Amino acid sequence: MKLPGHPFVAYRGEQLCIDDCTATELAARFGTPLYVYSRASMLAALAPYQRALTGREHLLCYAMKANSSLAVLQTFARAGCGFDIVSGGELERVLAAGGDPARVVFSGLGKTRAEMRRALEAGVHCFNVESESELGVLSEVAAAAGRRAPVSLRVNPDVDAGTHPYISTGLKANKFGIAHDRALAAYRHAARLPGLEVIGIDCHIGSQITETSPYIDALDRLLDLVEAIEAEASLRIRHLDLGGGLGIQYTDEAPPPADVLIGELLARIDARGHGHRALVFEPGRSLVGNAGVLVSEVLYLKPGEEKNFCVVDAAMNDLMRPAMYQATMAIVPCTLRDGAPVVYDVVGPVCESGDWLGRDRGLVVQAGDHVAVLSAGAYGMSMASNYNTRPRAAEVMVDGAHATLIREREVPAALFAGESLLPDD
Ligand SMILES: *Cc1c(COP(=O)(O)O)cnc(C)c1O
Repeated sequence: MKLPGHPFVAYRGEQLCIDDCTATELAARFGTPLYVYSRASMLAALAPYQRALTGREHLLCYAMKANSSLAVLQTFARAGCGFDIVSGGELERVLAAGGDPARVVFSGLGKTRAEMRRALEAGVHCFNVESESELGVLSEVAAAAGRRAPVSLRVNPDVDAGTHPYISTGLKANKFGIAHDRALAAYRHAARLPGLEVIGIDCHIGSQITETSPYIDALDRLLDLVEAIEAEASLRIRHLDLGGGLGIQYTDEAPPPADVLIGELLARIDARGHGHRALVFEPGRSLVGNAGVLVSEVLYLKPGEEKNFCVVDAAMNDLMRPAMYQATMAIVPCTLRDGAPVVYDVVGPVCESGDWLGRDRGLVVQAGDHVAVLSAGAYGMSMASNYNTRPRAAEVMVDGAHATLIREREVPAALFAGESLLPDD
């Protein structure tokens, strides 16, 4: 039995499998909570992007904040991807995973001078600049290093991506990007700064977007600007970077397939006479989201008058999306049992009422069973914390019947290894 949206997760008999590995066996071998990823699923999610862009000058930059574990980065680096980074720490991860810095775009609205210096030294492809003040600082840092920093300006096209307010980024009220009506002036300013070389334009309008129309609207706004910039400034916009944000199926969403979305964007770009420009995309969630599950043990069943609770050993520190965005993620048993489902709130051990993984879920489970949260490959482990001094989960990458531990489970002593007691009085 296949699970919708999850081509590499399925029941075989009573057992939930990821590729050819059984979830309960992985739990017994590696312990829980446990993130399990399918390498084949990641590559299958990348393929339609690559297919749609064949024959065009392009750069696919995996937005690594979705899942920045080294083996995940390595998987995408080997498949030819670059990376969209948002911090100096992420750049170090790219380098540690064998990624090519010349295929990196550096996004983010609060880059420090130290991060800029390091990225220049590493030779990133482009800085996606988010404010006029940042332009000035980057020019200074680059000039002091005897270089010119390649830049693209992130423009806020003021379109509504129709997604959750916390993951919508392209509206006027958002902190991201340069306002559309300031963008031309910002490009003129950039053209005058000695430490900069303008190479592109970019936007990123939000995340978990399930329609094509906001992308087309944003693209039109961007192309209007490109035409205005090239008409008057002595600038050439070599690449269009349309960001990331394509949604995935968590429960019953139906986002367009990546090749359909890109096909429509390319048709629009060509129709408006911009087909000669290089293209950059920055997909995150859509490459890894449905490639991962979070396996957790049922610790206790706690019946109550108003609610039944299913207490599991994974919590908000392991998977923040439900607590942070009220996100609904499918939760399924790792072993199917006969019986009538009982409706539970699936909650973790953390001392917060916001610590729930799913609400009102019908499940047939007993203490000691395992459950899996689906679609947990994106914004799961990368947002994990140590709240309540909970060591972070282990991670496993499966490939067919083969499972590789790609991150050890943390041990408590490691969590306070860098701390000190005060000297004696
Ligand atoms: C987060 C982010 C992305 C990726 O978003 P997804 O929704 O995961 O595809 C791309 N570009 C920028 C600038 C981002 O901040």
